[in-house]
Amino acid sequence: MEILPTKILLVEDDEEDYILLKKVLAKIPNARYELLWETSYRSGLACMLKGQHDLCLLDYWLGVQNGIDLIKAARRRGYRLPIVLLTGASTGEIDIQALQAGADDYIAKEELQGVLLHRVIRYAIERKKAEHEQEKLLSERIASKELEKRRSEFISMVVHELKTPLTSLKGYAQLMHKRFALAGDEQLARLAERMDMQVNKLNELISDFQDMTRIEAGRLQFRESYFSFDELVEEIVEDLQLTSQQQQLVREGKAEKMIWGDRMRLGQVITNLLTNAMKYAPASNRIVVRTRADADTITLHVQDFGPGIPAELRTKIFDPFYRIEGTEMRAVPGLGLGLYIAAEIVKRHQGSIWVESEDGQGATFSFTLPLNRKQTMVSQEQVVEQQAR
Ligand code: ADP
Repeated sequence: MEILPTKILLVEDDEEDYILLKKVLAKIPNARYELLWETSYRSGLACMLKGQHDLCLLDYWLGVQNGIDLIKAARRRGYRLPIVLLTGASTGEIDIQALQAGADDYIAKEELQGVLLHRVIRYAIERKKAEHEQEKLLSERIASKELEKRRSEFISMVVHELKTPLTSLKGYAQLMHKRFALAGDEQLARLAERMDMQVNKLNELISDFQDMTRIEAGRLQFRESYFSFDELVEEIVEDLQLTSQQQQLVREGKAEKMIWGDRMRLGQVITNLLTNAMKYAPASNRIVVRTRADADTITLHVQDFGPGIPAELRTKIFDPFYRIEGTEMRAVPGLGLGLYIAAEIVKRHQGSIWVESEDGQGATFSFTLPLNRKQTMVSQEQVVEQQAR
């Protein structure tokens, strides 16, 4: 294969130097160089800006102006090719000035010999290529961040636009329920109640979606306080028990500990595990909610006696949007975000979440939270204050 010549633009007002350089380049083994020559600052700059070469070699002395001015002028005008400055022995610190002005390297005329020149040219070209690659990667990264930002702003807006009419709908449904109940129309009152429940489901789906976008944008915020873990579990179990007569939520054990964390978010985790057990194990009459604590941790288990989770999917179900395929499962509404959000909340409390399951024998979802996470940072006064709230 024929090697394409490397095109060098020389800006040099001394013809003898041009001839010398031409000879040096011609003698370099295994390389082909083509030398373009410009003799003045002005014509050199014009030729540089056309960009039809691979590297520019500049002499420091160019009549009234010098090579450093030319480097600066070219770089100011967006010249992106490598520049090597030819310096003389008596030119003091111009090598440093040249690099500061935007040159890629320099070489003293006295040292002009084939091997060194060849190396300087090759390195300057390769370094510039690598620099451009880096710049390209960086600007691609900035562009994708920008896109990501716009996407998340758009999603926030959509979520807001969806939630606003739902809040009104919920208000109307509740009002209708009240009015129909007062008027003694039980059938319509029941319909209005169902409408309210459907609105709640929609709200939950949107909230999960909103939480997911917050997690992705690193904007899921926590409002932490010191609270009784047992009380929180008790509240949730009581509330959810009201939604099912067929499934018994059985409480076992007690933590008897206060914990530092986001009560609402940890409640969301417990609710998710319990509602999943109720949704995905509808035939399970019993769902056991077990809590225990030791000196350092609190652990909660939610055990159902439903279809369980196949071994190979036990980590996958914590991925966003992952839902187990299956005819029974398909009928259950969901986005596959609940466990992902739960895992993130537990992780942010420095805890861990996992599932144990025997295929067809039910599943036990558990999470453990450290008790001493922030205790050292909470003063006794704060504890009393939090408890009093
Ligand atoms: P969603 O309930 O919205 O689908 P989750 O992230 O909470 O999302 O759950 C992910 C998937 O894990 C569910 O779609 C379901 O297939 C499976 N799953 C969760 N909990 C259980 C359970 N207790 N028993 C069987 N499968 C479950």
